[in-house]
Amino acid sequence: SVIPAPLRIAVVGGGIGGLAAALAIARAGHHVTLVEQAARFGEIGAGLQLAPNASLALEELGVLPAVQRTAVAPPQLVMMDALTGDQVASLDLRSAAYTERFAHPYLVTHRTDLHAALLAACQEHPAVTLRTGHTVTHVDQDESGARLLFAEHRQALAVDAVVAADGLHSRLRQTLVGDGKPVCSRYVAFRGALPMERMTGPMARHAASEAVMVWAGPRMHLVQYPVRRGQLYNQVAVFESDHYTPDSDDWGTEAELEERFTGSCQTVRDALPLISRDRRWPLYDREPIEDWVHGRIVLLGDAAHPMLQYLAQGACQALEDAVALGRALGRLDDPTPAFIAYAAQRKDRAARIQTNARRFGEICHLEGMGATLRNLLLASRGPDDFDDMSWVWTPAAAGAPAL
Ligand code: FAD
Repeated sequence: SVIPAPLRIAVVGGGIGGLAAALAIARAGHHVTLVEQAARFGEIGAGLQLAPNASLALEELGVLPAVQRTAVAPPQLVMMDALTGDQVASLDLRSAAYTERFAHPYLVTHRTDLHAALLAACQEHPAVTLRTGHTVTHVDQDESGARLLFAEHRQALAVDAVVAADGLHSRLRQTLVGDGKPVCSRYVAFRGALPMERMTGPMARHAASEAVMVWAGPRMHLVQYPVRRGQLYNQVAVFESDHYTPDSDDWGTEAELEERFTGSCQTVRDALPLISRDRRWPLYDREPIEDWVHGRIVLLGDAAHPMLQYLAQGACQALEDAVALGRALGRLDDPTPAFIAYAAQRKDRAARIQTNARRFGEICHLEGMGATLRNLLLASRGPDDFDDMSWVWTPAAAGAPAL
């Protein structure tokens, strides 16, 4: 059989999705140039949960051992009632049921550590070229190829195809799909990781258990877990603002954070002063779309399927995207059919997770009778009952034969 000539592919965006895509494409035998607008590569100083579908993707990308060197494998996911401080339910991530069903670890990691592992693998791969300080302003395409233009008056880049991994506010998606701005949920997150020694009192006990703790309350929640070999503790406080105003940053403030968490139990209130206030993240998603492929350009990661973080799957899905894209480009030498095969494999699953992430958030933030019923229902589930999460944590395409 004829070995197809390697394609020249540009990846726009050097976040977790873009780096994973660059690595997958290079491992499939093509040449990749990744362009990132920032002056240097990096991620924000907070944590990330990686469910077993992400561990599987990382394994397929050859970086799971590097990620495991710093990540923590929590023994449990624990849901607590943020008001009463009572445990609602837990899932045992070390049970035989977990291992049989998923085979890959549930990990929690510092974003910087995951990003660094992917970046190092890209740097080591001879077929990957990395460029920072390159802001893509425009992409042209015709029958023979595509051309990227940059804001910094840099030379245009001619390639065979383009992967748009430029995130939630994707400029490329805007020009191709034109579905307006992301949808703001009126919820906002404050988050960050701090040295483990800072956790004292009852909080220290939870932290030492290394479990992922989710404290669910009315229109708010707090998530906590250790990262970086247990040296840091990550905390994310999320709440709905009553003062949301489009096109303004004047809502979801620190004062509102304090107010919304006032009625919570002592342990949650003790955690509040230790939650990073440096920056706030308004939480957005979009409605799912069908058209990920536009000739020689394809969407990936948050650019394709931005979702609310309630299922902790945004980055996991970007990693699944990367693996699927690499596989498609490994067996098809024409970019457009490969992109179409990748999108066909990925879009329904990503859409389902996008839609369910919203529902999951609503369940987490119930109040009154709704919260009582939720707690009763969840309490009836055993710690090795993974039926609710199984479809999320199992990529449908894992091990599936090539299309
Ligand atoms: P991004 O990380 O946004 O990367 C896009 C990159 O493109 C950036 O580096 C940007 O600078 C660059 N760029 C943009 N425009 C251009 C341009 N024109 N030219 C060149 N470069 C450009 N996911 C999980 O899996 N687990 C979790 O536990 C989890 N928790 C979360 C908690 C919160 C509070 C939030 C907000 C999200 C969470 N997510 C989680 C989601 C996850 O963070 C995202 O889905 C993921 O980081 C998306 O990666 P990406 O590479 O697609 O996009």
